[in-house]
Amino acid sequence: MQYFLAIIGGGPAGYTAAEKASKAGKQVVLFEQNALGGTCLNVGCIPTKTLLYSAKQYYNALHADKYGVTAENVAFNYEKMVLRKQKVVRKLVAGIKAKLNNECCTVVNGTAEVVSRTDEQVVVACNGEQYEAENLLICTGSTNFVPPIPGVKDNPNVWDSTMALDSKELPQSIAIVGGGVIGLEFATLYHELGVPVTVIEAMPTILPNLDQDIVHVLREKYEKAGITILTDTKVESIDGQHISTSQGEVDADKILISVGRRANLQGLTALTDLQCERGVCVDDFMRTNLKNVYAAGDVTGKVMLAHVAARQAEVAVGRMLRQIPVQRIAYNAIPSVVYTNPEIASVGIAAGQDCEVRTLPMTYSGRFVAENEGETGLCKMVVDKKTQTVVGVHMIGNPCSEFIAAASFAVRMGYTVPEFQQVVFPHPTVSEILKEVL
Ligand code: NAD
Repeated sequence: MQYFLAIIGGGPAGYTAAEKASKAGKQVVLFEQNALGGTCLNVGCIPTKTLLYSAKQYYNALHADKYGVTAENVAFNYEKMVLRKQKVVRKLVAGIKAKLNNECCTVVNGTAEVVSRTDEQVVVACNGEQYEAENLLICTGSTNFVPPIPGVKDNPNVWDSTMALDSKELPQSIAIVGGGVIGLEFATLYHELGVPVTVIEAMPTILPNLDQDIVHVLREKYEKAGITILTDTKVESIDGQHISTSQGEVDADKILISVGRRANLQGLTALTDLQCERGVCVDDFMRTNLKNVYAAGDVTGKVMLAHVAARQAEVAVGRMLRQIPVQRIAYNAIPSVVYTNPEIASVGIAAGQDCEVRTLPMTYSGRFVAENEGETGLCKMVVDKKTQTVVGVHMIGNPCSEFIAAASFAVRMGYTVPEFQQVVFPHPTVSEILKEVL
């Protein structure tokens, strides 16, 4: 059969593209070597959020007294938490399978390899069979980056995030190399479950890509709670459970390496002319330099977020289908969340020369005060001085992940402050902070 579209990789980019193209009546073949859902569903976003939720239940029960609730003999069973995580993942993978179960979509479980390509056709091999398609969409994702630190390779005490998620036992203590998003989310999980945590970050600050006023609130809370955070600290070598750093020695039962991810270009060797830099190079429509070859998701090395991958896939398929109006991705309005406790959520740009910043503590929200005893938080809105357009929002405080979408909408639609002021927010919700800060 001649397919309209061959997709390599069944993560958020791949399955979104398969769903969209097959719903449009186009014949699609999707190759996935592991489980559908990719990193996000199987070993990323969903399993971490499931475990973090269990940890939060325990932590809140432990600290229930401040809300006038007495809970005695609070305990947890980590293996049960991990089993529940697996159940959640299985359920969601089955959901994706069901979504792709239509007459236009063929899912092949196996490792795919591009065999040949012309401007008219791409041939992909998988499990000894060949598949021909008019278009190819590369959604091969990314893999954990292993830094060339002596003692990391083949060290049974060294984990990546997948190994950490798989372990049915909690470490006695953990050192986390890399104070980025993955590092801080695991720091939160282990800390809330009572594991001593040390975060080692090479840059002068943790979460270096985020607004530093926001990060300051988190760091202060975490250090006060007992998490050790070493910044400006380079790991020189690891020997068993012993880490030598530029600032001294650290010992830990397990060492989690979370220093970023790299595009996975597996299966593409036949595409000798494919332009790659940090990943497969693409234009605004997710087209590569090769006619009829597109790429979406982490493999493009752009913004490694599942929701970006899904949107990129929509844009790519829209382009293949020549849909009108032509779609693009609004990279200026992509929300991002760090699932620490409190959560961090942001969208748009940080303060710049042509901007003014309006800042308000989260305690201006009645609902926040009611539900966050003894907690602080911050909401920062960045406004273009000349046009009064909302160009960025940065927040820390629970549950800001749940309403950052409202800020994304404002940034995406180019709302001015007076326009945003006309939006009615439900009371009492923490989302009202977005209006208060105006
Ligand atoms: P990251 O880029 O967010 O953070 C890596 C950190 O490691 C950086 O702060 C960097 O300065 C530091 N680092 C690099 N080399 C180091 C070294 N040798 N020693 C000490 N520190 C070092 O990467 P990540 O946390 O591994 O996450 C990978 C990707 O997955 C990111 O793109 C992230 O956005 C994505 N992700 C997103 C979420 C979410 O949206 N909630 C959750 C997890 C992961």
